[in-house]
Amino acid sequence: MIYFDNAATTKPSKKVLESFLKCCEKNFANASSLHRLGYESEMELINAKKYIASIINANEDEIYFTSGATESNNMAIIGVCEAYKKRGNKIITTKIEHPSVLEPFKTLEKRGFEVVYLDVDSKGYINMETLLNEIDEKTIFVSIMYVNNIIGTIQNINQIAEKIKQKNKNVIFHTDAVQAFGKLKINVKNIDLLSVSGHKIHAVKGIGFLYIKKGIRLEKLIFGASQQNNIRSGTINVEGATSLAIATKLAYENLEKNYQNAKLIRNEIIKLKNILPDTYINGDEENAIPYILSLTFKGIKAEVLLHALEEENIYISVGSACSSKNKKNNYLIDYINEENSSSTIRVSFSFENTLEEAKIFNEKILKIVPMLRMYKKR
Ligand code: PMP
Repeated sequence: MIYFDNAATTKPSKKVLESFLKCCEKNFANASSLHRLGYESEMELINAKKYIASIINANEDEIYFTSGATESNNMAIIGVCEAYKKRGNKIITTKIEHPSVLEPFKTLEKRGFEVVYLDVDSKGYINMETLLNEIDEKTIFVSIMYVNNIIGTIQNINQIAEKIKQKNKNVIFHTDAVQAFGKLKINVKNIDLLSVSGHKIHAVKGIGFLYIKKGIRLEKLIFGASQQNNIRSGTINVEGATSLAIATKLAYENLEKNYQNAKLIRNEIIKLKNILPDTYINGDEENAIPYILSLTFKGIKAEVLLHALEEENIYISVGSACSSKNKKNNYLIDYINEENSSSTIRVSFSFENTLEEAKIFNEKILKIVPMLRMYKKR
């Protein structure tokens, strides 16, 4: 099997599963319980927070565990904008965010906020000047993704956050770091809120976190028994949090090695562009994150190619898996390459993939794509 759909989700690593099981057996007690077992669960949780916080240069009390990045993004966007609406009602994001960012913004728009959806260029970058021109005294919140999940564009998040604050120091800055965490070094110095999902970095599903800089207020979205500073109620998922901490450790201990491996794989697949006519790379071919590659094979139906590859036990994605079951499947490709949107696939890698797999993938593509094109001509 060749699994090239790691931006959709990853396989939990063995060490993660071992620690998850161990935690299920040893620390099943409710971390809020007052007895010794509860205290031990709480300690496990604090250790997980401490480790994760150390990786992004934060404090442990700035990490809030959630069910995943959809929840983190909703919490950050709706929570902060509702809490600070007396200051102003202008909020800014980009047109290429994940739906778990765009949908909360649309909801806030319906509630009366003025929303600016920034354009990006053909490689997926925002224009700094346009962004800064939009920042005024009414602006309270900006959310810009760190790494795009479809074409892999890496925004210069630290510089963006710094420039925003220079223009208006009261603006609160959030970034969806789902496709960056575990792959790039991250420092939250200028960032007020940052969303992460566990299942994208070989942890289990159902765990993520939101970093909230000390002093930032949020209206809570979930009402309950006041866990996690009464910002995110609900019995905390200690096993998930442990699995996320272990996955984080594995990712950061092997950061450079994994990055180079992904680069080798991506560069190998990019070669298709020079071998197969009418093949294009979407986004920034050279500087995008090496874990994601968006390819257009003109004249073919991406979905047909996906299923043909599946027959060969190769698993890829058309656009983003998150929205492929509703009609928005290629929202970003539609935006930057509308003409070829339905002929575009995404391949995404992890440390488990090899150069050998990339070579096999290329061989299969070189066989299947010309065949599909021929059928279409008939
Ligand atoms: N943001 C981005 C950039 C993503 O790629 C995803 C997952 N596709 C999410 C948010 C949502 O994460 P989760 O599945 O943890 O809710």
